[in-house]
Amino acid sequence: MIPLPALAALLLSAAAPSFVVVVDPGHGGEQEGASGPAGLREKALTLQIARRVARRLERLGAQVILTRTKDETVPLAQRAALANARQADLFLSIHLNSMPGRLGAATHGVETYFLSADATDASASAVAARENADRLAGEERDPDDPVAGILESLGDAEALDESSRLAYAVQERLVAKVKAEDRGVKQAPFYVLAGARMAAVLVEVGFISNPREGRRLAQAAYQDQVAAAIADGVAAWRRDGRSAHR
Ligand SMILES: [Zn+2]
Repeated sequence: MIPLPALAALLLSAAAPSFVVVVDPGHGGEQEGASGPAGLREKALTLQIARRVARRLERLGAQVILTRTKDETVPLAQRAALANARQADLFLSIHLNSMPGRLGAATHGVETYFLSADATDASASAVAARENADRLAGEERDPDDPVAGILESLGDAEALDESSRLAYAVQERLVAKVKAEDRGVKQAPFYVLAGARMAAVLVEVGFISNPREGRRLAQAAYQDQVAAAIADGVAAWRRDGRSAHR
């Protein structure tokens, strides 16, 4: 028996020297993202977790590009554009969830999203609205039609299908490994995913507004578990895609 991590490394590296992953730490710079009790900030935690995801994926033989490596402002449209320019195999945006008030303090768990024009439910719609607030003035191609980029992406059936498969693979590993509540795979109109011409998902790894989950998400050991689970999901997605195309 080959140990699982070694097998995953083998599958990712064999005949695939150019498996390219773009990892996107949500927010940064002027884009503050959500904040939580005890001064936790989403933009700082997404960068820490994204770095760990990058290291895990590199160990599996992937070439990883981060959309930012410090606390800087990166326009939403530029993030997927980078993945397109580098002909990445997948685009992975890392975020922390948040809800206002008492509900936000009580709610916890993991959600993984892929793109759609309409949100799965009211809660998914609220998440997209919060994450889309980063959009800088003049960023959309046509101010009269802000969903143009989304509709364009949805026209690519294969990328959408791969995004769905990737979302389920990541969500399944994440829930199993970190034993967080499974809030499911959902869809919503995220600007950061619009325009990506490859499998693209946005992972809400937990609630920063929940004091207990927020604290865990700031811990190195927990961040590493999250990163390992996401990397496992990517490896599974890659492996299953290959066997399906054989
Ligand atoms: Zn976010």
